[in-house]
Amino acid sequence: MKVTDPVCGLEFDEDLSVTHEYKSKKYHFCCDGCKKIFIKKPKKWSKKSN
Ligand SMILES: [Zn+2]
Repeated sequence: MKVTDPVCGLEFDEDLSVTHEYKSKKYHFCCDGCKKIFIKKPKKWSKKSN
């Protein structure tokens, strides 16, 4: 299944992603760098999705 990284917008396979849960929702990232950026400002990035 394909997922989208909310920080950089990359689309990739779910199996290859780094995951993080925020407000009971699971987010997928292409790397730890994007995950760290999300954790710093989760409000900004979670709003942007969809
Ligand atoms: Zn990314």
